[in-house]
Amino acid sequence: MSIKKLDQAALDTWVNKLIANQSVYGVQAKGERFAFGPLSKAEDLRLDYDVTILPPKKYFQPQREDLLEFNAKGEYTSVTETEPFILFGVHPYDVVAIAQMDTIFSADNYDVHYMTRRHNATIVACDVQNASANVFAGCMNTATVTKGFDLLLTKIGEFYLAEAKTPKGEKLLTDLPGGLEPGNLDLARREQVWKDNTGLLRKHKLKCNPQELPGLLEKSYYAPVWEAKAKLCFSCGSCNLVCPTCYCFDVQDDVNWDLQSGKRTRAWDGCLLKDFAAVAGGHNFRSSRTDRYRHRFYRKAKYVAEKLNQIACVGCGRCISACVPKIANPVEVFNELL
Ligand code: SF4
Ligand code: SF4
Repeated sequence: MSIKKLDQAALDTWVNKLIANQSVYGVQAKGERFAFGPLSKAEDLRLDYDVTILPPKKYFQPQREDLLEFNAKGEYTSVTETEPFILFGVHPYDVVAIAQMDTIFSADNYDVHYMTRRHNATIVACDVQNASANVFAGCMNTATVTKGFDLLLTKIGEFYLAEAKTPKGEKLLTDLPGGLEPGNLDLARREQVWKDNTGLLRKHKLKCNPQELPGLLEKSYYAPVWEAKAKLCFSCGSCNLVCPTCYCFDVQDDVNWDLQSGKRTRAWDGCLLKDFAAVAGGHNFRSSRTDRYRHRFYRKAKYVAEKLNQIACVGCGRCISACVPKIANPVEVFNELL
């Protein structure tokens, strides 16, 4: 696959050309923070961002979405979004999270809504230029990536290297005006960025290998840390909502005023919320805060981890920043269990 070297002016021209042809979502400043949103001009794109408020999973599993429309005759039509789009500037840890979500939504029960959006997306990944305050991707082997994207951008000094990984990425590169051939020195500088990022993206230091976490949790179900931390938990669900690997949702049917038609929707849900495990008859399988708090960590580093053979935490640090009582830090909890 091709690799090109480009300066900021060439990058801007390229991005504006892409925007003219199809929907492009990229990272932009939102006050002092950053968020993915529709991009209308290259100058708004901030590839130097530290972390986005919400992960880019919202483009594959929106906060709320229509699944199908139905009528009283029992007929229904599935609702799927088919517009192609480019997701520009996805950090490596979010690329890994998207790859995990792809497995979840395609393996056992193929989710046509998620997977249609996913197939319509072109992912332009971007190596991290500025580490966020709470990132620990370096500890989770997600500071850099070699797959899961169509094209990867890496900043080396005043230039970027753009490497296509798939035919979709290759096609994007054909639209790139004035790209240069990189030399060996450029490639060596990119290697150095990858090496540096693995060390720099460790604002919290996990004291064990992530692969040891399922075994650690196996023997920690009754550890005092769960109750001690859960005492401070508001059950607000923010740690779930900002997480790139949380995918739980709630499904609801709404009947229209005519009582003849309606639609089925789904919306993000979170296991820290009190009603998450409530069932008909009023029973709640995790009615205590301790049960809900503990479940989140078991899901990340044991249940899903054993299913996918990879830890369902990519070390983005969003949950740490979002938690007001400061109890959601996975590294802090796992280190305390060691
Ligand atoms: S658990 Fe926290 S640090 Fe890990 S992926 Fe989710 S939000 Fe990021
Ligand atoms: S751990 Fe923190 S963010 Fe998560 S539900 Fe409790 S208070 Fe909210």
